[in-house]
This record gives sequence, C-alpha cells and structure tokens, in this order.
Amino acid sequence: MSGAARNGTTQYVWGYLREYEAERDDVLAAVDAVFGSGQLVLGPAVAGFEEAFAAWHGVAHCVGVDNGTNALVLGLRALGIGAGDEVITVSNTAAPTVVAIDQVGATPVFVDVHEDTYLMDVGQVEAAITPRTRALLPVHLYGQCVDLEALTAVADRHGLPILEDCAQAHGARRNGVLAGTTGRAAAFSFYPTKVLGAYGDAGAVLTSDPEVDANLRRLRYYGMEKVYHVVSTPGYNSRIDEVQAAILTRKLTRLDDYVAGRRAIAARYAEALGGTGLVLPALAPGNDHVYYVYVVRHPLREKVVEGMREHGVQLNISYPWPVHRQTGFAHLGLGEGSLPVTERLAGEIFSLPMYPSLTVGEQDHVIESLLDVLDRL
Ligand SMILES: *Cc1c(COP(=O)(O)O)cnc(C)c1O
Repeated sequence: MSGAARNGTTQYVWGYLREYEAERDDVLAAVDAVFGSGQLVLGPAVAGFEEAFAAWHGVAHCVGVDNGTNALVLGLRALGIGAGDEVITVSNTAAPTVVAIDQVGATPVFVDVHEDTYLMDVGQVEAAITPRTRALLPVHLYGQCVDLEALTAVADRHGLPILEDCAQAHGARRNGVLAGTTGRAAAFSFYPTKVLGAYGDAGAVLTSDPEVDANLRRLRYYGMEKVYHVVSTPGYNSRIDEVQAAILTRKLTRLDDYVAGRRAIAARYAEALGGTGLVLPALAPGNDHVYYVYVVRHPLREKVVEGMREHGVQLNISYPWPVHRQTGFAHLGLGEGSLPVTERLAGEIFSLPMYPSLTVGEQDHVIESLLDVLDRL
C-alpha cells in the first residue's frame, strides 16, 4: 500500500475518491442535468431511478427514500407494523436494522445466526413466533442471502410478511433469485460505501404489492397523496433527493462491474489465505456473494488486528458489539449468553479491505502482511 491507512474510514474514502476520479464526468453530468431541470424534489430523476431499479430487479414497484434506515422504517410502517408488535430479526447486523424496528414502536425479537455464514439461523425462527409477531426481517449480511426458501415456508405457515434488509446485498442472488425480490418488501441503502452507493444518503424500498407501494408513497410524503392534504398518519418527510437519484440511475448500469470487482478481490484473498488458520467467508449452497464486507475470523483477533496495524493496515470489525448487547438496547433485557453464536462471533470477526478500486498492489500488501502476522502468532 503506497500509504498507511489510518483508519477504516480513510480506506473507504479512498475507494470513493478513486471511483469519483474514474466516473467524474458521468456523475457531474447527472448533477448538472438535475440542477438545470427546474425540478429539485420528486421530479423526473426520482421517477427514472425508481423505474430503473424496479426493472433491474424485475419487481413492480420501487419507492426512493432518504436513507436505508428509513427504508426499513417506512417498510415496516407500510406493512402496518407499530407499537406492541414483534419483529423477528438478528442481532448480528448493522445497528440500523434494529433501530428501525424500535423507531416504529415495535419490539425486536432475535434469533441466533449460523456459525459458518453468520446469517440468520432460519431453523430458530418458528420457535420465536408469538401471537404478537407481525413480520420477519432477515438481513442479507455482508453480501450473502439468507435462506429465503426456508424462511418463506415459515412465513407462509404463519401468515407473516417478510421485509428483507438488502442494505449490504445489491445484486446478490440465491439459487438465481435476486436479493429484494422474495419478500413482501425489501429495504435498500445507498450509503456511499455500499455496493451501489450514492454521493450522500439515499435508500429505496422494493415491493410487488400495489397497496404497500401506495402506503410507502404516502408515508415518505407527509402522509399525503395530493399536495396539502394528509390522508394518513404517521407521515414522514423521507424523500430520496433528485440529485442522488440521477447519480444512482447512472451508477446502476455499472452495478455488475462493481460486484465483479469485489468478487475478483475476494477470490484473490481466498486463494492466498486458505489453510492459514484464518476462517474465510463460507458460501451457503446456491449463494452468489457480492462481498460488501469480506469478513474473516480468528480466535486471536486482537493480535492479528494489532499486527496488521504495525504493517500499516487498519482493519474494520463489522460488528464489534452485537446489537442486543449495546447500551441503547439494554431495555430489551438480553444478558450475556442470550445469543451465544452471535456473541462469540463478535469477539473473533474482522474485515479485510474491500472495495472495487483496491489496487492489486494494495491487495498484495494486505495478503503479505496478513501471512506474516499469522505466521508469527
Ligand atoms: C447500512 C445499513 C443500514 C442503514 O442504511 P443507512 O442508509 O445508513 O441508513 C441498514 N441495514 C444494514 C444491514 C446496513 O448495512
């Protein structure tokens, strides 16, 4: 690596800056078109992006919103979920998954994850269902899909809707089926570091259900259908920005390339680091991973992270604290040991640098440093 990454953020900033260098003309053309259009909010760029993103997935409707967290919040609201309801999800996720459930007044109910894929253990879901359960919220974490065939069978048996958290899984497939096309609705984030990232905050919800689509459009627009008349509450202002929609429409045409770039880096890591004692990402059968994060595992994580820092490589941990053990969720009353696999993983996982513009030289530096650190443990 030509310069030492000081922290994970720095690495991500590099990724974004390199992408901007390569795509600058296209991005600025999108911005210029919006600024000159005379329509800065809910104009043609938003409609165009919604149509393109829905079509890319082969789903009837897409509603652009202001970020991925609110995509989940509005998704839950659009399914009629609120105070007193329970939503089954996982604790091994980005906190916003759970923040969104809390935000609508519902209670998150956690099941543990698989030791090998780090994804929702669908086999535990049925036992977690109570008379108050109103939805299942699987998270396609790190870029790999949850077993939605099995989860759909459970959901159908109990008449429960599935809301997919696709914030880390743009373009991921399971048995050929794209993430975001199975559930009643699916929430996406376009936070800049995501596989499909905006130049600021943005999000979207996909659905094939016209009623859910209508609910979402009202919810993001104060609860209005026509201007100045609120027809339902609660209402939010959760619109995707016209500029971000225009940029995303152009970037969507390159989504396959971004994924291919990530997969190539993942393949190099896997080839170089197999047999080292590092637990590499496990692919569930039928899954096409998009490697939003390349998560590995080692029982002596702190030593590995420290050793890598000495080599000038700052490693991220996604995520160091399971959500149910975070201070803000203490009221859930879930003590240590309540989700044993999730808790064990949180102490051992870490991520290797991963973004499409990471150079081969940088990948080599990461690999050689890691081999050296592991060798000296
Ligand atoms: C990023 C992320 C979110 C939240 O998206 P924002 O756009 O940052 O609000 C939600 N869930 C998961 C799994 C994420 O990775």
